[in-house]
Amino acid sequence: MSLAEIKGRIDKAATSAGRSANDICLIAVSKVQPNARVESVLNEGHRSFGENRVQEAASKWPDFRKSYDSIDLHIIGPLQSNKVRQAMSLAQSIHTLDRPKMAQAVARIAQEDGHCPDLFVQVNIGEEPQKAGILPTEADAFIVQARALDLPIKGLMCIPPVDEEPALHFALLGKIAARNGLNGLSMGMSSDFETAIALGATHIRVGSAIFGDRVPG
Ligand SMILES: *Cc1c(COP(=O)(O)O)cnc(C)c1O
Repeated sequence: MSLAEIKGRIDKAATSAGRSANDICLIAVSKVQPNARVESVLNEGHRSFGENRVQEAASKWPDFRKSYDSIDLHIIGPLQSNKVRQAMSLAQSIHTLDRPKMAQAVARIAQEDGHCPDLFVQVNIGEEPQKAGILPTEADAFIVQARALDLPIKGLMCIPPVDEEPALHFALLGKIAARNGLNGLSMGMSSDFETAIALGATHIRVGSAIFGDRVPG
């Protein structure tokens, strides 16, 4: 599907939710996509992109930045502790703040560097054992803790269980954000971004619907 078609769908979903499409950031998830596909989206003027691996982001985006201005890079995948510093220097936003130890590491590096990307707390919204993220019942306390470290928490992020109705999970994420005074909601992917927009998403992470199927390797 073309970028223009996706934007059309975003406009439509925003309008029917009584929202402005300008309040929704489309993150084009470019992981594992050939550079030519990414460049064609850059050439259409799009600037917000998402990567889930730091190594891959580091191999692509510093080069793209030489040719394209104002790239807005989002790290959306789990971060090992030894990758936090690199992620913070590469990206404008990190969507996967998912544990107290990482919050402490980010705070320490931010102090040293005098700079911190925007942060989203990943919530394990379906309480799935194999998934990263703060449990919904622990989110309020974690947000308090992160704020005490002066971290710039912009919002919450979730990946709902694949085999469940995403709307209930999106609604819960919105509730947790609202009661903590957070505006940012990073939720919704290729298959469910319209539902996410209806439930308040401010950042949608769309990969295959824009770029086509991911080509492995
Ligand atoms: C890959 C990925 C996406 C995009 O998935 P699509 O289904 O291709 O849109 C969104 N969020 C995260 C965290 C991802 O890893």
